[in-house]
Amino acid sequence: MKDFLLLTPGPTKVPDRVLAKCALPMIHHRTKEFQAILERINGNLPKAFATKHPVLTFASSGTGAMDSSITNLFSKGQVILSFSAGKWGERYRDIARSYGLDVKSFEKKYGEAFTAAEVEAGLKANPNAKGVLMTLCETSTAVVHPIESIAKVTRGSNAILMIDAISGLGCDVLKMDEWGVDVVVSGSQKGFMLPPGLAFVALGERAQARMAASDLPKFYFHFAETLKMMKKNDTPFTPAVSLMRGLDEALSMMLEEGVEAGWKRHARIADHVRKTMKSLGLEIFAKAPSNAVTAVNMPNGFPSKDLINFVRDTHHVVLADGQGELQGKIIRFSHMGATACDEDAKRGLDSVADAIKKLGVLNPV
Ligand SMILES: *Cc1c(COP(=O)(O)O)cnc(C)c1O
Repeated sequence: MKDFLLLTPGPTKVPDRVLAKCALPMIHHRTKEFQAILERINGNLPKAFATKHPVLTFASSGTGAMDSSITNLFSKGQVILSFSAGKWGERYRDIARSYGLDVKSFEKKYGEAFTAAEVEAGLKANPNAKGVLMTLCETSTAVVHPIESIAKVTRGSNAILMIDAISGLGCDVLKMDEWGVDVVVSGSQKGFMLPPGLAFVALGERAQARMAASDLPKFYFHFAETLKMMKKNDTPFTPAVSLMRGLDEALSMMLEEGVEAGWKRHARIADHVRKTMKSLGLEIFAKAPSNAVTAVNMPNGFPSKDLINFVRDTHHVVLADGQGELQGKIIRFSHMGATACDEDAKRGLDSVADAIKKLGVLNPV
C-alpha cells in the first residue's frame, strides 16, 4: 500500500527536499550560520507575497499572524469591517472582537463571495472604519475573493485592507504591492509546503504607519520589536530553527519555479480537478472557486464521512470534510503547494471515482 497522500487543505505534503533540511542537526540561532539563513529568508519571503515590504515570521500556527495583525495595528474601540464568507472569515472577526474593537460584521451565505461593490457600500456606511478584514481563499467553502477589485476600493479610504491568505498564498494570485493590499497574513502548512508552526505577516507602508499608534497589549507578537531585530537578521526570541531551514528550502523551490509559474500551475490543476469532479457527476460547491482547494457537494444527502473513510482506508488518500454547518455535506480536496501536480490530483480523483462506483454515491435514495 502506498503512503498516505494528504489532500487536506492543511497540513499538506512536505517535499523531500524540505524535509531533509528540517532534519539537519540543530544549530544555535545567535550564530553567523543561522544569520545567513535569516538573511536569505528576509530577502526571499517577500517575493512569495509579491511585495517589497518586510514579511515578519513568527513561531506559531497561522492564527498567530491573524491575532497579531489586530493587536499591532489597531486601538481599543476602533471601527473595523469584517467580511466573512465562512469559518475563517468568522475567526478573523472574532479575534478583532475579542480585543475590544468595534466590529461591523458583514456575512455571506457559505459558498458565495463578496464583491468590491459590497465592500464599497460597507465603507460608505462606516466612513470612520480603520480596517477591512477579508479572506483570499476561504478554505471552509473553497471560495476565492476578488482582492484586486476590493483593494481598489480600500486604497482610497482610511481603512487598511488585511487579507487572510493562510491557505491562498502561492495558490491564488495575490499581488500585494501592485494591487495595494496593506497586510497579508499566511502560515507554513498550506501553499508553503512546510510542516505547521510558522506564521507570516507582510506589512505595507500604510500598515507600518499604524503600528506606532496602536494601544492594544502585545508582547510576544510585537511587530515593531520584530522589525527592529529583522534589520540585523536576528529575532527577538528563539526562532523555530528547523522550520526556518525548511522555509529557506521551500522558498528556493518556489523561486526556482517562479511565483507566477506557481500560480499558473495551481490554476491548471484546480481547473482539471473541477472539470473531473463535474464529469464524475459531482457539483462544485463554491460560486467563485479558489485554486487552492475544491469543495464538492455530496448528492442526495450522501454522508461525506463515508466517502472520506472509504478513500482513506482503500486508497490511503486523505480528504477533508466540511466545517461547521457544512460538516457531512461536502468534501474538500486540496491542490496546494506540492500536491498541485498531475500525479497527486490523478490519485485523488481516481480514489473519488472508485468511491462513487463502490459506494453508490450517485444512486438516487
Ligand atoms: C488554515 C487556515 C487558518 C488557520 O490556520 P492555523 O494555522 O490552523 O492557525 C486561518 N485562515 C485560513 C483561510 C486557513 O485556511
